[in-house]
Amino acid sequence: MLLFKKTADLQNHLAAERRTGKIIGFAPTMGALHDGHLDLIRRAKTEKCDLVVASIFVNPTQFNDPKDLEKYPRTPEKDIRLLLSAGCDVLFMPDEVGEIYPPGLDLTVKFDFGPLAEVMEGRFRPGHFQGMATVVKRLLDIVGPDQLFMGQKDYQQLSICRNLILQAALPVKLVMVDTRREPDGLAMSSRNVRLSPEMRAAAPVIFQVLKKTSDELADKPVEFLEKQALETLAAAGLKPEYFEIVDGISLQPIGGEAGDSDFVVACVAVWAGEVRLIDNLVLKG
Ligand code: AMP
Repeated sequence: MLLFKKTADLQNHLAAERRTGKIIGFAPTMGALHDGHLDLIRRAKTEKCDLVVASIFVNPTQFNDPKDLEKYPRTPEKDIRLLLSAGCDVLFMPDEVGEIYPPGLDLTVKFDFGPLAEVMEGRFRPGHFQGMATVVKRLLDIVGPDQLFMGQKDYQQLSICRNLILQAALPVKLVMVDTRREPDGLAMSSRNVRLSPEMRAAAPVIFQVLKKTSDELADKPVEFLEKQALETLAAAGLKPEYFEIVDGISLQPIGGEAGDSDFVVACVAVWAGEVRLIDNLVLKG
């Protein structure tokens, strides 16, 4: 595996590889890697990418909470070992923020994702999606991949990236990779290491609630299921921010009977003590 810390060096290398006709797969991450991240690399291999590129960059512009940025786990040596074991070919780990946002770059240009970015995470993390889209667009411009691999775990993020690719007419195929879970159902997340023992014990209820909602979708109204989920999460000691049953494309609340929609996803965000966790499950479609 080759490691690049400078954008120009990475671009020179990838340009040469591209000239030989290689298909490039790309998985952007913020590091503190786990098996869910490695699934992106493995999937890129099975999608016949000749060259798999990962990036590790804790992007300051997508953190609306400075404390969250400061406490974000960083484990670069372990990450390198894991990527190597998963068969990653190239790691881009910029050593300075200026490698991604060079002086003179106009960062005031805003994306307009409309209602897609106004709900759920957009409501609770103002500015987050602008920051996320800015870095993803920068990374796509730098890496120029044929295929982009992202996790279902961050469902709204993925939907917004799909919209970004459409808006900017980027020549890249977006591939969604299933959420990797711990044996007790908790979605793997870099933030899980920060959970207290009590909160780690409570956190599996998130997936239990998603599954229960899925089981009951055909028989019960959406509002009832959302209310029931919020109550169950709170009773387990978590502080839910939202539990929403939405259309899988528009991400807007479906309300009423889920029978009217053919693609339905439940999305949830909770505080587990000091740690914010998100998860989702496709209920239908
Ligand atoms: P992050 O490092 O958290 O920004 O995530 C980088 C990429 O890994 C994103 O596309 C995430 O959706 C994906 N990812 C994070 N956790 C998981 C998981 N448990 N299963 C699958 N993909 C994941």
